[in-house]
Amino acid sequence: MFFPESVQIAINRLHSAGYEAYPVGGCVRDFLLGKPCSDFDITTSALPEETRAVFSEFPVIETGIRHGTVTVVFDTPLEITTFRIDCGYTDSRHPDAVEFTRSLTEDLARRDFTVNAMAYHDGDIIDPFSGRADLDARVIRCVGDPVTRFSEDALRILRGLRFAATLDFAIEEHTAQAMLACREKLRYVSSERITEEIRKLACGVAAARIVREFSSVLAAVLPGFTPSLERLSSLPPKLPLRMAALLGTVSAADALRFSNKEREAVCCLLSAKAPTDVRAALREFGQEKAELLYAYHALPFSLPDGIWQISQLALSGSDLLEAGLQGAEIGKTLSALLHAVMYEGLPNERGALLAKIEEL
Ligand code: ATP
Ligand code: MG
Repeated sequence: MFFPESVQIAINRLHSAGYEAYPVGGCVRDFLLGKPCSDFDITTSALPEETRAVFSEFPVIETGIRHGTVTVVFDTPLEITTFRIDCGYTDSRHPDAVEFTRSLTEDLARRDFTVNAMAYHDGDIIDPFSGRADLDARVIRCVGDPVTRFSEDALRILRGLRFAATLDFAIEEHTAQAMLACREKLRYVSSERITEEIRKLACGVAAARIVREFSSVLAAVLPGFTPSLERLSSLPPKLPLRMAALLGTVSAADALRFSNKEREAVCCLLSAKAPTDVRAALREFGQEKAELLYAYHALPFSLPDGIWQISQLALSGSDLLEAGLQGAEIGKTLSALLHAVMYEGLPNERGALLAKIEEL
């Protein structure tokens, strides 16, 4: 298994100090799948204070320390988490308490899915929950009883759907039934975390299949969503395209947290009609959104010859100032000139444009 140097150093140091330490979870899963991994997690028998002592000359971020995570900053930050058992989830979201343990198996047992509950040691995979068999069979299966696990933390429902969509895995039957049975508990999950999972799900290779099979689960977090399965399966995995295809309505987008730019793009795709004129689309939406809009409607797009934006006019705002125009008149006149060049055959030449201003 390939490790960045910091992972190797961290594990060797913890071993030398007499503790167990293993790469665990997603990085082991991705290694077995032959996928690159950028996010390595280490699990250790050392208590947080002990981990801190082992790495005393490195800077440490302590934000996760109550849950056993010490983030040691080598060239990049590395999360080192004490073996732990999560106890009592009264809110379907956070464990009421965590208990540290010296047992790796207990730590693996608290993890969500069998494929995420493996650790790596000296060329071997430590795999008490048969994650490797599920990986080979391409199945997402809860560790332990699925209803219990989803009731503890409902986010796991969306993580499961996301893994199935991105890895193109099936969801084991009891796990799938529990996702349906527990879907109302998703209301305890924050919209940030929901958004993060839906983003990854939407861009997954098997997004259309998962959305079709689990639409009632997704409806619990995306009220009013009306997915276009056809688009979800045919569009490239670009966030605004897939997200618009998954949501289908602007109101469903309101349930999620996006940057302003993403929200604008998604809402544009969901509210604009299919474009018929490239230059008009460029003029109305700008190049980036116009290209998305053409892709969304499976129409070929190429930048037209000729002119479609004010900055291409052979005359600028300062020319209009000189010609005696002021304030809002300037913008309006530039728009009118652009319209005349685009649709009325007015030549994009200084003299012709100046003459047109007189007329306007
Ligand atoms: P990704 O590829 O998105 O990083 P990941 O499985 O590595 O997927 P992380 O959020 O990095 O996800 O978590 C690392 C590991 O921690 C998981 O593989 C899993 O073992 C465990 N884990 C994460 N979130 C949960 C959860 N909500 N419930 C139980 N175990 C979890
Ligand atoms: Mg990870």
